[in-house]
Amino acid sequence: MNRLDAMQPSEIRELHNDYRRLEAEQPTRSFIPLHFGEPDLGTPSFIVEAGCSALRNGVVFYEDNSGRPDLKEALAAHYGLTPDHFVITCGGTQAIALTMLALLSPGDSVLHLTPCWPNITEAAKLAGAGVKEVALRFDESSHRFTLDFDALLDTLAATLGARMLIVNSPCNPTGWVIRPEERSQLHTLCREHNLILMSDEIYDRILFTSAPFPSALGDAGNFERVVVINGFSKTYCMTGWRIGYLITQPARAARMAQMQEFLVSHAPGAGQVAAITALKEGESFVDQSVERYRTLRDRVSTELNTLDHACVAQADGTFYTFFSLPASKDSVAFCRDLLRETGVVLAPGRAFGAGGEGWIRLCCANEPDRLSEAICRIGDFIAVRKH
Ligand code: PMP
Repeated sequence: MNRLDAMQPSEIRELHNDYRRLEAEQPTRSFIPLHFGEPDLGTPSFIVEAGCSALRNGVVFYEDNSGRPDLKEALAAHYGLTPDHFVITCGGTQAIALTMLALLSPGDSVLHLTPCWPNITEAAKLAGAGVKEVALRFDESSHRFTLDFDALLDTLAATLGARMLIVNSPCNPTGWVIRPEERSQLHTLCREHNLILMSDEIYDRILFTSAPFPSALGDAGNFERVVVINGFSKTYCMTGWRIGYLITQPARAARMAQMQEFLVSHAPGAGQVAAITALKEGESFVDQSVERYRTLRDRVSTELNTLDHACVAQADGTFYTFFSLPASKDSVAFCRDLLRETGVVLAPGRAFGAGGEGWIRLCCANEPDRLSEAICRIGDFIAVRKH
């Protein structure tokens, strides 16, 4: 079987295509799309201006494979590392794909904590690896998803050729934020079992806890077995610019940059210049955004909790709300019917892997009135279905 035959199309993208079709058929109908992981507000104008002026000033040529030196220097200053730890990529998505392609061989296995953004699993499969999913546990008392370390150990024991552990925290879609002691446990596990830890930290700035985020860089000691994924899409509302990066051991970063030559050459130059401005001048924008997302999260949770038997996971980070309803046991069917009947578009939990079925993801990065209207329509929809 070739890779194309083995590939599983994204269920979120398929629902999106259904929505686009319906929208084309019914142009006057009101739709509320909340299924993509994208802030509603566009890129702040000071960042747009930096990108435009870079283009006007001739940033229109090929760049280094590993990214522009000035962006790597800005990132190095931000993290307290040297620039040779960084490879700039075409979004976090390409940082993930590059990591998989570079570090996995056909027949390797990866362990992935889920529910999680499905593209990570598919990227591992595209690299020829088998994926074992380990479901986070929903803790009824704290109403949070938590790491089930025993389940991870059991799965690891039953896995041949385990090569990598994938962790995404703050987690899309559950909002789970790893605790420092869990981070240490995972590092120890990776050391003992000779696993690479791929830590996707793309939501690390969208955090509602007062404690600093326990990055995998913190107690890694060295970068021998760690690759951290990050990018500008979420923090700075730059999804369309396609600027992300990975952080790893310099020798590995240098080899991965060489691989970029054959994949994408490099990330877009003007976008990289805009990213420098984001990093250097974006702090107050980030602070304002987090406060906005916190308010929206609270509002959405409160309103969803008024629905009959709704279970809403408490998110400590990201801009998602993950929730379940009695009617959403088959989450794909629920989302399809909801779209058709109400025009509200949500992402089905099943798309996020083990532990996701029965749940639904709603992206809260939207206008409060639109979110309330969507929840109102969901309420009407489930009330009609009950009868
Ligand atoms: N990781 C996670 C967990 C994500 O949710 C996303 C975007 N949905 C990405 C990586 C990639 O984002 P981008 O390619 O836009 O940087």
